[in-house]
Amino acid sequence: MSSGQTIFVEGGRVIDPASGTDGVRTVVVREGRIAEVAERVERPRDALSIDARGRWVTPGFIDLHAHLREPGHEYKETIQTGAAAAVAGGFTAVCTMPNTSPVNDGAAVTDLILTRAAAAGLARVYPVGCISKGQKGEELANFGELRASGCVAVTDDGRPVMSSALMRRALEYAQAFDLPVSVHEEDLVLVGKGVMHEGLVSTRLGLKGAPGAAEDVMVLRDLALAELTGGRLHIAHISSGGAVRAVREARRRGLKVTAEVTPHHLTLCDEDVERSGYDSCFKMCPPLRSRGDVQACREGLADGTIDCIATDHAPHGVIEKEIEFDLAANGIVGLETAFAVCAALVRDGLISEARLVDALSAAPARVFSLPGGSLARGAPADVAVVDPGLEWRCDPERFRSKSRNSPWKGEVLIGRCTHTLVGGRLVYDLGKGER
Ligand SMILES: [Zn+2]
Repeated sequence: MSSGQTIFVEGGRVIDPASGTDGVRTVVVREGRIAEVAERVERPRDALSIDARGRWVTPGFIDLHAHLREPGHEYKETIQTGAAAAVAGGFTAVCTMPNTSPVNDGAAVTDLILTRAAAAGLARVYPVGCISKGQKGEELANFGELRASGCVAVTDDGRPVMSSALMRRALEYAQAFDLPVSVHEEDLVLVGKGVMHEGLVSTRLGLKGAPGAAEDVMVLRDLALAELTGGRLHIAHISSGGAVRAVREARRRGLKVTAEVTPHHLTLCDEDVERSGYDSCFKMCPPLRSRGDVQACREGLADGTIDCIATDHAPHGVIEKEIEFDLAANGIVGLETAFAVCAALVRDGLISEARLVDALSAAPARVFSLPGGSLARGAPADVAVVDPGLEWRCDPERFRSKSRNSPWKGEVLIGRCTHTLVGGRLVYDLGKGER
């Protein structure tokens, strides 16, 4: 993905945590790369100008956790619509989860994903392979084949690896290919038939709860296994206060553990399930937890215990969502709302602008060793221009994603991506968009 066009992104506040830049600059893009970031630079007549005054110009966002649903569930999302949703949200790269149909446990599905992503020509798409064959939790997948064909990490996301012995072997085996092992942490026995977070709210609503401890025990187990093996452990969608404390302590001891948190676990809690009146757009896995857990996640993000923000973009059709709460599928779409939802944390003084941008770009690049995440001279020109003050009504009918399952539907959100460049190509322009 490259382009010969010269683009000047002018007058915006450039926030590039990787280089420590925060100030009004012009970003010059030439031949697909960042040519210059400077206070004053003359624009040649044939260059395209993007007016970024009043906006932030940041490295393109990188999502370590998205479900693009192809192959197998194309009625929910395809690589093309998922990549379109990504760039509309400022994401220039997305890692796509392997719980498709068939699952991505080998080169065939990885190849298909990369072919479709190239045809879409929007965001960069990085496949993530399975930990276990068929995602059955019994036998390890061929990590060498997954790495060689283009996978950047392994996970059985959607399910935990319940066998401690298999998890140990995964952490050992993945090191040979320098693959991070991303884990969906819930003890299925403790979860039982729970459909939301266990607490006063679940009791009031008469819904079966799953305790935060179901996440804690798995995180504690995997930290012990990471210590035993020296493996590269990544905690997906961390959501419980106990898990955040465990990761903080493990990092202090020097373990190679990283973690991501979703926009919804930073901003919504179990009381929102009640407020919504059993709306299944508030049902996800891990579930929305208590206010205390939300606070712990925010503190974890602020102090660096949690490296980055990942959307867990999980499109579902009407058939999976517009049914009773306990029967509905887990998950929400998130690529097009992530920036607005998280920008609220900056307005509330919980994190700085630079930390927000870092958590969406440089940090995820580091966690999965991906290119991008910086506006350094010579870097591929993956750039997001976002307006932190732009108010817009969240109307899922206008999403680029194929699915509509958003808990923010109908709400006025503040903050929106206006332009996205991938490899120096303008792949999204809100002003030109039909929206
Ligand atoms: Zn998961």
